[in-house]
Amino acid sequence: MSKKKLGVNTICTHVGEIKDKQFKGAISPIYLSTSYEFDGVDIKRYPRYFNTPNQEYLVKKIAALEHSEDALIFGSGMAAISHMFLAFLQKGDHLVVQNTLYGGTSNFIKEEFPKYGIEYTFTKGYQVSDFEAAIQPNTKLIHIETPSNPLLTITDIKAVAHLAKAKGIVSSIDNTFASPINQNPIDFGIDLVMHSATKYLGGHSDILAGAVAGSKEHIERIWNVGKNLGGSLSDFTVWMLERSMKTLALRVKAQTNNAKKMAKFLDRHTAIAKVNYPGLKNHPQYKLAKSQMHDFGAMLSFELVEGIDAMAFQMQLKLIKSSMSLAGVESTMLLPSETSHALLTQDERDAVGISNQLIRFSIGIETFRDLKHDIEQALIATKTKTFA
Ligand SMILES: *Cc1c(COP(=O)(O)O)cnc(C)c1O
Repeated sequence: MSKKKLGVNTICTHVGEIKDKQFKGAISPIYLSTSYEFDGVDIKRYPRYFNTPNQEYLVKKIAALEHSEDALIFGSGMAAISHMFLAFLQKGDHLVVQNTLYGGTSNFIKEEFPKYGIEYTFTKGYQVSDFEAAIQPNTKLIHIETPSNPLLTITDIKAVAHLAKAKGIVSSIDNTFASPINQNPIDFGIDLVMHSATKYLGGHSDILAGAVAGSKEHIERIWNVGKNLGGSLSDFTVWMLERSMKTLALRVKAQTNNAKKMAKFLDRHTAIAKVNYPGLKNHPQYKLAKSQMHDFGAMLSFELVEGIDAMAFQMQLKLIKSSMSLAGVESTMLLPSETSHALLTQDERDAVGISNQLIRFSIGIETFRDLKHDIEQALIATKTKTFA
């Protein structure tokens, strides 16, 4: 059976299974050996070489989902990003990177790149012209993030990939927010796709892991860095991740369907000033999102109208949890101005459009009317307190 022809739920369930030949069990056995018999030929199995049986099989599932030749898994999303950057950038090279970016990624660039003598430019915006303007003669990698955190802006994947190709530059994307279920950037010409597997791939808020998908040649380059840095994922976690990914498409589709209803509900609500969701027709890049995403994802952000305190509102929620992380089966909210973007000054936050009224919302699999009810009761409770 060709993997390309398999449906996404079949890939999630079956690709990368290890057959239990000995006992014929239904699930992949877990292999914890750090030592394998030396048979004198090619494979030296050793966990730090990313080639234990469980690692070797799980990457087949990830590669099949991202339409890539190969993949690698890591101990965190940041490990995936740092290995990818260090494999394609060396002393004297230059990175072009999108300005709206996961905080950990921008910290890594700002804090570590100077030590390695790697140069970088954050783009002014997220249009393809912004990327083009930032390219230098020594640019070796262009890194994008779409939909972006927390404003859900959309970058034109195909245009950036083509720009990079035309200049002989490698391109990479952080595909965490969309997940492979809602977006497959390799189909649009991007070279490397990375995920924080801590988010949708894991999906239950109990796994820290990361992944990069790409061509065999590119993945080998990253592997060469990885075996030296030595940050391989534990096989217990590899096994947990494989189990979690069996329901990836089911979960993400249920979450996306909830998010589409939620975006419409919030958009109509008088207590909500603005909703950022690429699936709303009033999103400035709705058409672009529709052209490059299978569906619009389960992340959104919204602004409460002035006078309703965002923190007070969050405290009144009973079902929806407040959380720094995202993408679990449970719905969570976060106030970027108090958390992920708290270190920026008010002026810096204003410049990127992150107001104190903005709330990031990761939508889970709960029954929609319960989520809606929780928001309605929290708004009433907040208003009652505010105007009492
Ligand atoms: C969480 C996250 C990361 C970092 O992943 P970790 O698993 O926490 O290291 C990178 N990018 C995005 C978009 C994320 O949400």
